[in-house]
Amino acid sequence: MKPCRVETNGMEMELDRRSLAMIRLSFGGRTWFENPDNGASLWRLHAVDARGRRVDLECGGCRRAEVVRRKDGVELRWTGVAHRAAGAGPFDVTVRLAPVAGRRLLTAWRIDVRNRSGDWTLWHLLFPLLNGLRPGPSPDRDMLFWPEMWGMQTTGWERMKEVSGVCGGYGKHSAQFMGFSHSDRTFYFASHDPEQWPKHMVFKPVSCRSRRSAQIYFLAHPAGMTEAGNSYRQQYEVVLGEIPGDWYDAARTYAQWVRGRPWVSSPPKNAFKGLREEREILVWEQGSINAFPSERVVTVNDLSASKWARQMKTLKRKLGVRMAVHMYHWHQTPFDTNYPEYFPVKQGFKDLVADLQDAGIVIMPYINGRLWDHSAPSYDAQAELHAVKCCAERAAPPLRFAWPESYGNGQLLVTMCLATEFWRRKVVQLCERIVKELGCRGIYLDQLGCSGSRTCVDPRHGHSLGGGSYWLEGYRRLLASIRDRIGPEPYLTTENNWEACVADFDALLDTQWNHEENLPIFPAVYWDRGAIYGGDVFGPAFGGGGETFIQRMGMRCVWGGELGWGHFEHLLKPENRDLLDYFIGLCRLRTDHARFFCRGEFLRPPEVVTSDGTKCSSPLKGPVLSALWSDPDGDGCSLFLVNVTRGEQRVKVRMTDARAAARSPAVCVSLRPLESKAVAL
Ligand SMILES: [Zn+2]
Repeated sequence: MKPCRVETNGMEMELDRRSLAMIRLSFGGRTWFENPDNGASLWRLHAVDARGRRVDLECGGCRRAEVVRRKDGVELRWTGVAHRAAGAGPFDVTVRLAPVAGRRLLTAWRIDVRNRSGDWTLWHLLFPLLNGLRPGPSPDRDMLFWPEMWGMQTTGWERMKEVSGVCGGYGKHSAQFMGFSHSDRTFYFASHDPEQWPKHMVFKPVSCRSRRSAQIYFLAHPAGMTEAGNSYRQQYEVVLGEIPGDWYDAARTYAQWVRGRPWVSSPPKNAFKGLREEREILVWEQGSINAFPSERVVTVNDLSASKWARQMKTLKRKLGVRMAVHMYHWHQTPFDTNYPEYFPVKQGFKDLVADLQDAGIVIMPYINGRLWDHSAPSYDAQAELHAVKCCAERAAPPLRFAWPESYGNGQLLVTMCLATEFWRRKVVQLCERIVKELGCRGIYLDQLGCSGSRTCVDPRHGHSLGGGSYWLEGYRRLLASIRDRIGPEPYLTTENNWEACVADFDALLDTQWNHEENLPIFPAVYWDRGAIYGGDVFGPAFGGGGETFIQRMGMRCVWGGELGWGHFEHLLKPENRDLLDYFIGLCRLRTDHARFFCRGEFLRPPEVVTSDGTKCSSPLKGPVLSALWSDPDGDGCSLFLVNVTRGEQRVKVRMTDARAAARSPAVCVSLRPLESKAVAL
């Protein structure tokens, strides 16, 4: 039987005539996906029943499949999808493909699943499930990229590994898009989901008869999980197709959509309203108070508290920038234990706060925004009631329980449901006490930015079961309530950079992303909106000449990050004199050009080559790190360069951004050892 062809907006798809399995998917005549043997299903339903039987259903299980051509695209319909042996189903599946207005070769995909079974619940579904991704003509140059923290990439088809994670989970997929590039073209794959329904985003290499291909898909959870007969109507579009260009163009495509979302562009009404550079903290120290004795402050970062405080003040004077301390172990209870009972605080903490804040250094204590210790004396029936519930994969499960997490200290903590007023009130009260009783000018709310939309199946919480928009809504309400209580001035930060946190937090913590594969996707999407701080510059980073410190801070500086966290007191050691000078240089560069980094646009990165022909493509090792930012108050832009070596460097910089190239296609710049500088264009 000849395949059936559908076409919309330059996308052509060949489908098996009987099952509508995808045989080939092309854009503008270029084939990206191919499944020559009978095709592959564009979706997979995962359904379970009350006895714990689990089935996966694909298009081959349908009674009837048809293509309906519509004025605004194409509709693919499968009716009577069932697992006959298990008796699962029937389900009716409809997929709508429509053009994206004004964007040739981009298409919007939606799925509806009608569950007509009486005793099976739809647990999750893979959609779009695109099998058979092929390498480009030069596989060594193929690039896969995804939004892990700053952004990450793998170059080379054979080197690509599975990239799989929850959207919003532990920095893995801070945003809802990824892409695959070759030959100056990119396959763009994104969920334009303003409600942040819980989902995973997956790229997976597949080997079949020595032929290597890859699959790419979203895994989404429907509402009504655990309820037999739950249907699913996708509330958002999955946008996919070909775009000219590379990762930067894909980031800008996503930016066009995401920058209009309230969680990126509308901070809470009681948040700070001035310019970001009037407020930005540039250097983030990490302070760890002694664990024992548990009732009073003796040391910070293993120095006597008074000595460490003196060093902080010295550092602040030398650096001349806004500085904060992200403070751990300020409470008497051990770390990750008895949360959320952070009070009473260690004796002497309040005085330490007052002392440093008088010197202009913000103190920002750690609390966790989502965990309650299962063994805390305060964990009562009310706490249990408002914890996130999970359950076995079953319809009408007999048990819904709070799954405890452990962080290596033998304690068990449970995630609280952000959709509940009860938990939000608890966190707001804590924030209020930290600001009003302790006088702190900042609060770090751990894990809110690394634990994007969760599935909770407790019907007593009043939200939809499993899938839904309730996590985002609850989270944003929480942040708005915190601002209502503490006002615009205290700084708020969280762990990692779930994109839904961009408008609410002053900065988002990057804990450990120091990879050669880093790619500046975050600033290319959220410039002028979100800020990342971090870098992990603790004791070891200053050893062996401090190369690690130099590289990590250099990368953050040019990409618009705030510097830290770490133990910056190491800079005051006599042997680290040149590291201190280097760091003062970075701080000065950032301060003198704050408007570029805080409100400017992150332009397409330039190409930098040293005089001996070395291409500066490493985001950490350079030898010269670079970025191009536009001037938000004028027409110009500025090139920022950091020499991360202890040798002189002379580089030729070629602008690949059209606006910058029109002003100055290329410049030659000399840099002294460890020098950082701006070149106005
Ligand atoms: Zn819940």
